[in-house]
Amino acid sequence: MFGDIWSKAVRSEIVMEPVLNIEPTQRLAELRRTVRLYQERYGELSGMIDVTKANAAMASRQRRLAKLEEEVARIQVDINSMSSEVQRIERWVEFCLEDVIVRAKQDHAEGWSPTPVLGFRLWGVGEEALHGVKMPWPERTLVATCLSRGGGEEIPHTDGRCGRLGCGVYAAKLVDPLYTEFDVTAIGDVALGLVALTGKVVEHDEGYRAASATVIALAASLGKHVVLTSDAGTIDGVFADPAVIRCERKIETHGQRLTEMETFVMAHKRRATPWTLAINKE
Ligand SMILES: [Zn+2]
Repeated sequence: MFGDIWSKAVRSEIVMEPVLNIEPTQRLAELRRTVRLYQERYGELSGMIDVTKANAAMASRQRRLAKLEEEVARIQVDINSMSSEVQRIERWVEFCLEDVIVRAKQDHAEGWSPTPVLGFRLWGVGEEALHGVKMPWPERTLVATCLSRGGGEEIPHTDGRCGRLGCGVYAAKLVDPLYTEFDVTAIGDVALGLVALTGKVVEHDEGYRAASATVIALAASLGKHVVLTSDAGTIDGVFADPAVIRCERKIETHGQRLTEMETFVMAHKRRATPWTLAINKE
């Protein structure tokens, strides 16, 4: 009968596996607790020899692991101190590189200026465009390219590999040498401009080579007409269509035109100090 079941001595005991997912270490602890309980309850248990072996194997690995972790901690300390040394040496390398750059600039008279360097330029004035020596200027700003070596931030080159004169937008320090070199009394329609040189600028005895140049004052003649302007919009207009010069006033002789043009741009250069130059806003 049913009741008889309870009157008999306990013959077996079932431990239900826990339903919840538990962590392996937690499960291990559970199993150990259960085994201890059984040992208390039943004395010696079979299979314990394997447990002892496994425990010993685990203990030796744990000791090794602890040592490795100590080593890792020590290595981490080394890593920290080495990386702070690297950072300190990086500052040193930066300092040395800056020093090399400063020396190179001094030795090769090369400079980068946050404010534009000013120079003079001459163009031939045609009906369609203002022409520099090498190419027409379609607008008042010209960015240099290197015909032999293409573009790049190192333009104008200074290593002599792109010809004797080198690349870059050329500008003179004075007007007179330009007038003489290009024999402006012989050629007809000319324009004289004050240019602001930007980007890399290489200084030579009589002038500069620059990465780019923007015309900030322009004196241009076409026929007997002359325009003298420092207005950005008017300068743009002349570069876009030189024929607009014909709407300006007349100056009868070529010599007088050249003198007035020179006087105008020279005066503009004297007035243009770096802090009044804001070519980006013009
Ligand atoms: Zn070049």
